[in-house]
Amino acid sequence: MPVPARKLSRSKGRRRRSHDHMNPMNVGVCEKCHAPALAHKACPTCGFYKGRQAVDHSRKAARFLKKTGHAHPHKAEPDKTS
Ligand SMILES: [Zn+2]
Repeated sequence: MPVPARKLSRSKGRRRRSHDHMNPMNVGVCEKCHAPALAHKACPTCGFYKGRQAVDHSRKAARFLKKTGHAHPHKAEPDKTS
């Protein structure tokens, strides 16, 4: 229920906002290239995950993506936005 701002003490407002903060992200390290990477996600630097190359970040793949608009030469992924 809304309460007018001047009816609420500074203390009460600040106590409520004590829970509004965000916690820092738990950033780990990539096992292959030792760059900072999130747990359970492919490394943003080298694309390595769970002992294998999950995402191809090579120059050739980047060039193909720029040229054609899709990531893989054989499977054009369907649009997931719709
Ligand atoms: Zn990496």
